[in-house]
Amino acid sequence: MPDSRTLDQETPDKAPTRIPGAQGRPPEVDRVAASRRAVAARRERAALKKDVAMRVITPQELLRRALAEPTSPAGAMRVPEFLTAIPAIGEGKRDRILHDLEISPVKRLGGLGSRQREDLRHFLDSRWPEPEPRAGRSRLIVLAGPTAVGKGTVAAHIKQHHPEILLSVSATTRAPRPGEVHGEHYFFVDDAEFDRMIADGELLEHATVHNAYRYGTPRGPIEKALAEGRTVLLEIDLQGARQVREADPSATLVFLLPPSWDELVQRLVGRGTEDAAERARRLRTAKSELASQGEFDYRVVNDDVAHAADEVARLAR
Ligand code: 5GP
Repeated sequence: MPDSRTLDQETPDKAPTRIPGAQGRPPEVDRVAASRRAVAARRERAALKKDVAMRVITPQELLRRALAEPTSPAGAMRVPEFLTAIPAIGEGKRDRILHDLEISPVKRLGGLGSRQREDLRHFLDSRWPEPEPRAGRSRLIVLAGPTAVGKGTVAAHIKQHHPEILLSVSATTRAPRPGEVHGEHYFFVDDAEFDRMIADGELLEHATVHNAYRYGTPRGPIEKALAEGRTVLLEIDLQGARQVREADPSATLVFLLPPSWDELVQRLVGRGTEDAAERARRLRTAKSELASQGEFDYRVVNDDVAHAADEVARLAR
C-alpha cells in the first residue's frame, strides 16, 4: 500500500538529502530542482488526461498504470482530475461518482484503497466496457486508424517481413508520387475506369478519402488468395473498414493507435507545411477517427513500427 502522504507531494519519495540553509530551508538549488520536477510531473499528468480525453487510451488503462506504479504521473493523478478527463463526465457527474464510490476528492489514483480500486474499476467497466478480443479468426485483416498514425509504414513492414501475408493493392484516382509503381503501390486509374470497376462489381469497398481522390480494394486478388489459404491484409481508411465489415462480418478489424495524443499531433502537424485552419481540421478529424475505435476487434499501439507490425501479423495466424 503506498503512503498517500508521499503521493500527495509533487516530489518523488527519494528526495535528495537536504542540507538545511541558514533558516533551515533547503538550499536554492534543491528548490529549483524540486520545482522543475513538479512542472514535469504536471505536464505528464496533463498529457495522460489528454490521452484519455481523446480516447488514445481507455480510462481503465490509465487506472492500471496508476495502480502498477503508484508514484508514476498516472499514480499521482487526483481522482477528480481523472474522472473529468473521461469524455462525457462533467463536474456534476464527477461529484456524484465520488460520492457514490465513497472516494475523497483529494485522493490520488495510486493511493486508492483496495475496495475503492475495485469499485472504480467496476464502475468504469460497467459504463465503458473495453472491447473483448473476438473468438475465432478470419484470414481477412483490415488495418485502419487515424490519419498520420503510420498505417502505411506498418503495412510496408509487414509486406517486407511477412511475405506469407498478401498486402492488397488498391486502385486510386490520385496521381502517382515519385517512386510509386503502378500495380505495386496502387493501380493508378482515371475516374472513368474507377466508375467502371464499381459498375462491374470489381471493388470490395471504395471511398473518397480526405475529400479528394477515390480509393478502392479490388475483389479478385483477395478472393483468390483467401481461396489458396493465404492471409490478406487491407490497409484502408475507416469508411472502407466499415464497408468490409458489412461485406464480410467475420473480417478481423485492427485499429492502429498512436502511443499518445501528443505524439499524433506531432506526426500530424509536425512538418509545419499546413496553415492553422488545415491543422485544426486534421486534429478534429483525428479526434473523431479515434472515437470510432470501439468498432474494431483489436487495437495495436504504433510505438515502434517493427513491434506494431509483428503484433498485426500475429493476429493473422
Ligand atoms: P495515400 O494517398 O497517402 O497513399 O493514402 C491516403 C489514404 O487512403 C490512407 O489513409 C489509406 O489508408 C487510404 N486508402 C488506401 N487505399 C484504400 C482503399 O483501397 N480503400 C479505402 N477506403 N482507403 C484506402
